[in-house]
Amino acid sequence: MNYFSLNNNAPIATFETAVRKGLAPDKGLYFPEHIEPLEASFLDSIENYSDAEIAFQSIKQFICPEIPEYDLKQIISETLSFDFPVVEIEEGISTLELFHGPTMAFKDVGARFMARCLGYFNKDNNEEVTVLVATSGDTGGAVASGFLGVKGVRVVILYPSGKVSHVQEKQLTTLGQNITALEVDGTFDDCQDIVKRAFLDDDLTEKMALTSANSINIARWMPQMFYFLFAYKQLKSKNKPIVFSVPSGNFGNICAGMLAQKLGFPFAHFIASNNANNVVERYFKTNTYSPLPSIQTISNAMDVGNPSNFVRIQKLHDNNFEALKNNLTAYSFSDEQTKEALSAIYKGSGYIADPHGAVGYLGCKSYREKNPAAQTIFLETAHPTKFLDVVEAVIPEKIALPPQIQAVIEKEKSAIYVEDYSQFKTFLLNF
Ligand SMILES: *Cc1c(COP(=O)(O)O)cnc(C)c1O
Repeated sequence: MNYFSLNNNAPIATFETAVRKGLAPDKGLYFPEHIEPLEASFLDSIENYSDAEIAFQSIKQFICPEIPEYDLKQIISETLSFDFPVVEIEEGISTLELFHGPTMAFKDVGARFMARCLGYFNKDNNEEVTVLVATSGDTGGAVASGFLGVKGVRVVILYPSGKVSHVQEKQLTTLGQNITALEVDGTFDDCQDIVKRAFLDDDLTEKMALTSANSINIARWMPQMFYFLFAYKQLKSKNKPIVFSVPSGNFGNICAGMLAQKLGFPFAHFIASNNANNVVERYFKTNTYSPLPSIQTISNAMDVGNPSNFVRIQKLHDNNFEALKNNLTAYSFSDEQTKEALSAIYKGSGYIADPHGAVGYLGCKSYREKNPAAQTIFLETAHPTKFLDVVEAVIPEKIALPPQIQAVIEKEKSAIYVEDYSQFKTFLLNF
């Protein structure tokens, strides 16, 4: 499969080139040239397939034969070494738990998949690629863990100083080996700007191969469709319209669900559940897309002012505003509402959600007011212990630290402080 740039001003790229580059030379996001729906017979009998087979069938058209089928199966089985259970919260609302991986966030799936693809491409050469990743909290940890020790890859993570949780910071800054953490004096948007500038900086790109591991990279974005399919497998027998509520920041996760829908999975609707960073909700109300600087919230992995994957979502709807509005509803919720939801979920079902999942739950609630027949599923994108301060302030229960978290908490932080782009550049040139 080849990929073109959504800015339409760059050469067509192979899967390998698109993965290595991240962003196309014209700064556009890569997008597959074709999306071929899967056989109806496969969708009808999905419950007979293992998760790994479902993942393989859904993604192979985008990757094979560039990566041979045998190797792709290997990559998938290593990526999916944990479970994706759907848990019922209340009538009409379930959650899809995406936090059973090594860093306890959904990004483990995309990061592990992408790392293994790069590892595959590097196995017979001496090429070195530097992965730059700006993180609002979770991406960095998942990427660091996914790429740890991968041949020919070094990872530089930029995170906003003082704006990620304690657990997240430990996950970013304690791995060592080929992983370096940069603590940036600024917001997530500042981190993202530094990364974007680096890709355009000839002084850097002439000296080193740079790529990104944010969801702009197709090898991170596309595998995120897998768990929507696993949820479908678990819910199909209910025979109800399936609606996903996705706690959204850069809109990569929800966009992957929409890719699955293009493959023929009968998803009825999507809900983008946002915190105060609500550019898409405003877009639907006003017909004008006007990004704003990001606002800090208690669901910090979604503090994104200008979601990078929104152009892909528009493309998946043929750039048709009405078609998009029919398939996607966007809501935004305050921190106060989020805390109330954490508490309400706990009181109602004993379930402890994290702040992002709680925003997703609120999306389900709002949507079901008008669509009571919908079977809604919110994605529980991270484990509550990653946001312990927020959750324990609301829930009258001590949350036991899972072993993955316990192990990093005890390690020593190691990060390099950078104030601005020029300090960052100096660091990278001497790296
Ligand atoms: C990254 C992240 C999100 C947002 O996902 P996008 O793909 O950027 O929309 C939501 N919740 C958590 C916990 C995250 O880490």
